[in-house]
Amino acid sequence: MNYLFENLDKIKDVVLEAPFGLIFDVDGTIAEIAPTAEAVKVAPAVKEHLASLVPRLPLVSAISGRLIKVLRELVGVDGVVYNGNHGLEKWVSGRVEVRPEVQPYVAKIQAAIKELGPVLQPRGVRFEDKGAGLVFHYRTLPDREEVREAILQAISRSPAAQPFNIDKARTVIELRPPLEISKGSVLRELIEGYNLKSAVYLGDDVADIGAFNVMRELSKSGEFAGLALGVIGEETPPDVAESVDFVLRGVNEVAAFLGWLVETIPPGSN
Ligand SMILES: [Mg+2]
Repeated sequence: MNYLFENLDKIKDVVLEAPFGLIFDVDGTIAEIAPTAEAVKVAPAVKEHLASLVPRLPLVSAISGRLIKVLRELVGVDGVVYNGNHGLEKWVSGRVEVRPEVQPYVAKIQAAIKELGPVLQPRGVRFEDKGAGLVFHYRTLPDREEVREAILQAISRSPAAQPFNIDKARTVIELRPPLEISKGSVLRELIEGYNLKSAVYLGDDVADIGAFNVMRELSKSGEFAGLALGVIGEETPPDVAESVDFVLRGVNEVAAFLGWLVETIPPGSN
C-alpha cells in the first residue's frame, strides 16, 4: 500500500494541474462512522478547509448514498456540489433534481417495505425510505451478524425486492434501482462536465470502488490525471485498498490532507 503522506510530491503534481477537482464520499471519508447515521458529524476543521477550497477550485463535490437534503445539513459548506442517493439525485441551481429514470422505482420500494417490514422490523432493523431506494440499518443491534443474514434472506424471499440491486456496504444493506447510475458514472459526468484536467476522489468503502476505477481508467488516456485515494481503517474490506493509488489512515488524515490542499493550492490558481 502506498501511503499518501509519503507521496505528497506525486500528489502535488496532480493537484497543480488546473483545472483540478476535489471529489469525495462523506461517511467514513470526511466524517467518522458513528453508531447511527444521525450521530455522524463533519468536524469543524474539515468544513473550514472545504470552505477555503471552494473559491479556489472549479469543483468541490460530494458523492454520497445519503439524500441531498441530509448532505446539505451534514456538510453545510456553501458552494459544494452535492450528489445524493449514489447519484440518483443531484443539486442543480439551488435545488434537488431527481433523475427521471428513477421514478418507476418509488412505488416498488413501497411494495418492498410492505413485504419486508413485518419480517425485519420486529427484529429491530430500522428502515430508511430513500424514495427510489431502501436502507436497512442494523449496526447498533447486539446480534448484528445474525440480523445481517436475516435481512439478506428476507430480501431473497421478497418478490417486491427482486428488481433491485443489493448493496452491501460495511455499515448498512441497501436496495437500489438497477440503473447504470453509480458513484463511478457520476464522477465521470463531473470530470467531463467541468472539463477537469486533474482530480482526486476520496472514498472508504466498496461502494467507492466504481469511482476509484473511473479515476484510474480516465488517467490512462494521458490527458487527465486522476488519483484514487482510499481511507483505510480496521473494518475496511481489502478490495478497497487494492483499488486505490494511495491510502490514508482514517478521517483525521483526510482532514490533514484537506489542510495540505489549502496550503498547496494558492487562491486564484484555477
Ligand atoms: Mg463511505
